[in-house]
Amino acid sequence: MEVFRRKNDLKAFLADKKNIGFVPTMGALHEGHLSLIKRCASENEICVVSVFVNPTQFNDKNDLKNYPRTEEADLALLRANGCDAAFLPSVEEMYPEEDTRVFDFGEIGNVMEGPRRPGHFNGVSQVVSRLFDIVAPQKAYFGEKDFQQIAIIRSMVKQLNYDIEIVSCPIVREQSGLAKSSRNTLLTDGEKEKAVLISKTLFESVNFAKSKSVADVKQWVVDTINAEPILDVEYFEIVDGYTLQSIENWSDADYVVGCITVYCGVRPVRLIDNITYKKQE
Ligand code: AMP
Repeated sequence: MEVFRRKNDLKAFLADKKNIGFVPTMGALHEGHLSLIKRCASENEICVVSVFVNPTQFNDKNDLKNYPRTEEADLALLRANGCDAAFLPSVEEMYPEEDTRVFDFGEIGNVMEGPRRPGHFNGVSQVVSRLFDIVAPQKAYFGEKDFQQIAIIRSMVKQLNYDIEIVSCPIVREQSGLAKSSRNTLLTDGEKEKAVLISKTLFESVNFAKSKSVADVKQWVVDTINAEPILDVEYFEIVDGYTLQSIENWSDADYVVGCITVYCGVRPVRLIDNITYKKQE
């Protein structure tokens, strides 16, 4: 595996490569990331992985400061999981000048994470488009854990006319059901145990949904999780999986997903998860 910190060096390495797959990450790698990396390595001649904690997507300075950084361990995991080229640029390398571009994602950007993390998806699009320009992949891999992010990336790809296939990969969970996340390392063991209630409730809600209305399921999920004192639901929306707009009836969409964000513990740590209620191919 080659390690690059300069975009021109990576570009030169990739210049004669034909079939490039790409996985953008912020590091602190876990099995969730590795599932994307393994798939990327198996489907492409060259697998490129970036590790970059992108400041422009953090609307909370403390979150940026506390974000886990584990470069040595990340490089070892990348080497062991089929990565051919690791890209670890500095902030100056990625942003020699301020990126002032403003994206408009329409209705998909105005719900859920959109209004609650102002500027977040704009920052994600700034960095991912810059990385796409450097790597020029044929395929890029993203996790469904960040469900809204995939819709945003697809919109950005359309707007900027990239010829890149966006591959979405299923959520990888701990044995307990908790969705794997770099932020889980910020939880104490006790908090991690309690956070399992989030996925447990989402799984149970699939059964509950068979006989209850959308409104009832929403209320039940929020009440069940909030009953645990260290958990605080920020939002739980049941949405059309394509438009991300809230639905009122189960029959309103062919693809129905419940998206949740929960604050956990004293720090607190912001955890996201989602569950598919219905998907008609
Ligand atoms: P991050 O490092 O958090 O920016 O994540 C990099 C990529 O890994 C994103 O596409 C995430 O959606 C994906 N990812 C993170 N956690 C998981 C998980 N538990 N399962 C699947 N994909 C994940």
